[in-house]
Amino acid sequence: MTQPKLRFHFLTLFPELLQPLFQASLMGKAADKGMVSFHFIQIRDFAKDRHRTTDEPPYGGGEGMVLKADVLWDAWKAAGGGQDGTRTLLLSPQGTPFQQEIARDLAENCENLILVCGHYEGVDERFIQLCVDQEVSIGDYVLTGGELPAAVIADAVTRLIPGVVGNERSITEDSFEGGLLKYPQYTRPRVFEGLEVPELLMSGNHKKIAEWRHQQRLDRTREKRPDLWEAYLRKDPKTKKNPVQSSG
Ligand code: SAH
Repeated sequence: MTQPKLRFHFLTLFPELLQPLFQASLMGKAADKGMVSFHFIQIRDFAKDRHRTTDEPPYGGGEGMVLKADVLWDAWKAAGGGQDGTRTLLLSPQGTPFQQEIARDLAENCENLILVCGHYEGVDERFIQLCVDQEVSIGDYVLTGGELPAAVIADAVTRLIPGVVGNERSITEDSFEGGLLKYPQYTRPRVFEGLEVPELLMSGNHKKIAEWRHQQRLDRTREKRPDLWEAYLRKDPKTKKNPVQSSG
């Protein structure tokens, strides 16, 4: 492979927090094979004074420090900000809640992804106005920095690049694909602490197994995530026959 399908650029004050996460397991392998590449840009390298200042107190007073727009701007430019094929996301508790759908869109349509990790109180609003395509949140809680959320997003997106997860089929049946959660899974031993693996899974009847698994996806989604279930029914009510509770 000559060109990575997707290049990730993390704009961060703490590259050392992020780097190890991308060296092991499936993400490390994806980078080794050249399917994706991960670049860590130290925002401080773009500071303009001899104290290497990256953040200052907010105008109007108040708590904490704000990341400077001019320093971020230069770091962003260095990562390819503003060029064709580049998207810029800011990690922010005020952003759109991150979902599998966003991950899929990025995996399919983006070549260069800049993930801006805020720190302290946040970033100057003008940088957001000028450079950020979308603000994304990983949940309704506040973290100390955008590094963990950026890693979450890079992981979810990398996983969807063709070839990164060995078996393509395993992705299409994942939770959230098609709006449903995944079916329950079992491996050896056959009996554990008195609990048996459902008989059908050992029958070798692939059609029956596929039906059972689909029914499990429906049942689980309805029970565990009524919100997803409602959305699933709304999306395509005709094709969804009244789901029967499975006995498995
Ligand atoms: N004062 C800000 C929060 C700053 S938290 C406010 O009240 O909105 C510091 C940085 O951590 C943020 O700039 C952001 O990059 C990151 N962060 C914190 N919580 C996050 C979340 N739930 N999702 C994504 N990023 C988050």
